[in-house]
Amino acid sequence: MIKVAFFDTKPYDKIYFDALKEEYGIEIEYFESKLSPRTAVMAKGAKAVVAFVNDNIGKETIAVLKENGIELIALRCAGYNNVDLSAAKDVMPVVRVPEYSPHAVAEHALALLLTLVRKTHKAYIRTRDFNFSLNGFVGFDLHGKTLGVIGTGKIGMAFIEICRGIGMNVIAYDPFPSQGYLEYVPLEELFERSDVISLHCPLTSETYHIVNDYSIKMMKDKVFILNTSRGALIDTEALIDGIRSGKIGGAGLDVYEEESEFFYEDLSESILKDDVLARLIMMPNVLVTSHQAFLTHEALKRIAEITLGNIKSCFDGQPLENEIVAKKKIIV
Ligand code: NAD
Repeated sequence: MIKVAFFDTKPYDKIYFDALKEEYGIEIEYFESKLSPRTAVMAKGAKAVVAFVNDNIGKETIAVLKENGIELIALRCAGYNNVDLSAAKDVMPVVRVPEYSPHAVAEHALALLLTLVRKTHKAYIRTRDFNFSLNGFVGFDLHGKTLGVIGTGKIGMAFIEICRGIGMNVIAYDPFPSQGYLEYVPLEELFERSDVISLHCPLTSETYHIVNDYSIKMMKDKVFILNTSRGALIDTEALIDGIRSGKIGGAGLDVYEEESEFFYEDLSESILKDDVLARLIMMPNVLVTSHQAFLTHEALKRIAEITLGNIKSCFDGQPLENEIVAKKKIIV
């Protein structure tokens, strides 16, 4: 049996990993704590750690993992901006789940968009109170509007297919354009022409705060912004200013740049200590979900299969097809 230490465990993780672990010859010790320099020592006795999006896998954590005999970092997610890849290089491999269900994330982006545009989140509350008034609920047709997609990888393309299905015109920006018919435009032109902008690029030094004061000024009045990728793609203060001034018509956010302390936790009995997040949540045309775009049955099953497969391949001496090889400077 290969022993692994599993960090930031939630009940739904256990269901999917427990169902498959024996098949892969893997024994799992679950920890609710996030992985950090302080908690990394808990992995002692395991050969690998399984980590998620808000775990801290910086230089210090990697050093503690190494000291405690860990030989592999297995991310159970696609993004890896929380890993210091240069610190891990030549110390231990880092593997991830590059694709589990791009549809899960793309469909969640659509859910955010439709909810905001047609105000169904408010209608739900109103009708539960037997208030059947429609005042304030005027939306707009997405059909015929222009969607600008930043990052046309697996999730971006899945979202494009969905939005084409509802009759949106699509333009895109990606430094590595994909094959097939898609109108790629420079980033500035995308900001100027889009009615809806959806972020599907990774967080790198180039994409950090790609939505900022300057880019918001270039955007159409009443633009809608969707972020299901990584929080720090958006300068949140600039977003709030844009919403306050009426420049931005709505924002659907599954991620937030300071999310790690808050998302995935039940804080309903406490005072929210992040005023910026509190301001965002209180805005009537902002919809915040707590990094849940991936959370479907299909995606969780694939995440467990691929993560356990990655671990088994590593300790069986097989090639690591999902190893992350650093290409660009990644911001932690
Ligand atoms: P992917 O690697 O298939 O696609 C990323 C695309 O971004 C690529 O086409 C790449 O060329 C492009 N890109 C790179 N640098 C860019 C730049 N400077 N400007 C514009 N585009 C750039 O990744 P994916 O599977 O489509 O995932 C996209 C992102 O979604 C991930 O990086 C991750 O952060 C996020 N994600 C979020 C969730 C969630 O639950 N909210 C789940 C999975 C992934």
